[in-house]
Amino acid sequence: MYLAVSGCLLGENIRYNGGHTHDRFITDALGKYAQFVSFCPEHLAFGTPRDSLRLVSDKESVTVHNNKTLEDITSRLIETSKAELDKISQQPICGIILKAKSPSCGLGSAVIYRTNGYAQSKGDGVFAKMCKEHLPLVPIEEEARLIDPWLRENFIMQIFAYEDFETFKATHPAMKELVTFHQSYKFMLQSKNDQNYRKLGNIVANQAKKPFEEILLDYEVLFKQTIGHKSSIAKTRNVLEHMAGFLKKCINDVEKRTLHDQIHDYAHKIIPLITPLSTLHMLAKEYQVEYLLDQKFLHPYPKELALRSDIRSGK
Ligand code: SF4
Repeated sequence: MYLAVSGCLLGENIRYNGGHTHDRFITDALGKYAQFVSFCPEHLAFGTPRDSLRLVSDKESVTVHNNKTLEDITSRLIETSKAELDKISQQPICGIILKAKSPSCGLGSAVIYRTNGYAQSKGDGVFAKMCKEHLPLVPIEEEARLIDPWLRENFIMQIFAYEDFETFKATHPAMKELVTFHQSYKFMLQSKNDQNYRKLGNIVANQAKKPFEEILLDYEVLFKQTIGHKSSIAKTRNVLEHMAGFLKKCINDVEKRTLHDQIHDYAHKIIPLITPLSTLHMLAKEYQVEYLLDQKFLHPYPKELALRSDIRSGK
């Protein structure tokens, strides 16, 4: 998998002061599964070290200024941001991780100043805004938000599902394969947005008899939008109960009680999600319930990341 990442998060000494903001989760944990495409529109424009920048808003627009000289350097930063966007777009990236608070990379966290020098609000940095506009379906997050176990789990699930769809698409599938793909994502999609799961089912059902290429494109857009939704404990509990329903005819009373108790305890934040999921997985294996075993929701990303072992990964 390719991930585009702010170069300073990868440990490159390219911040305005010649330093970095190395993020160990990205390089050490995600680095086992991803190749990084580094970018830094500011280094490309002004070199390192350089004067720091700020976003300034007048009534008409937001511009970028040198903090020391106050020179308007908007057009130069736009130019290099476009070049970096081109660079990352040429790779099959499955996600973008940006450095928070930067006037270039901040995603909703860049401080925007008034012309009188006072902070006015927060918004997107120049490069972050461009990424959102030009790559609207690509998963995108800031490293600062990924500290939150719930946002982290959602983002990691999203990038692996995104990669899975890209791999699937590259196999030149036909309708039969799309149906199987959709079925395998049933519970993950329901944990994100049940309404969209149903809409995706309607796309696959193809009652309008559209050509397959059109169906696949419609499916891709809504699928990628849906995996970007955040799960919740309530939605996940529904999914767990639904999954347990597939086992009810084969499991015994003790197994049923255990599973029910674990789902209850998960919903009340007493135990993490991995506990009922492991039980579901074990029972599905024991009773050979293939439909459950094929569900991506049981193994959405490498288990070594252990994100569902954290009780705070549910909200
Ligand atoms: S422009 Fe982005 S990548 Fe470059 S130093 Fe600033 S935050 Fe890091």
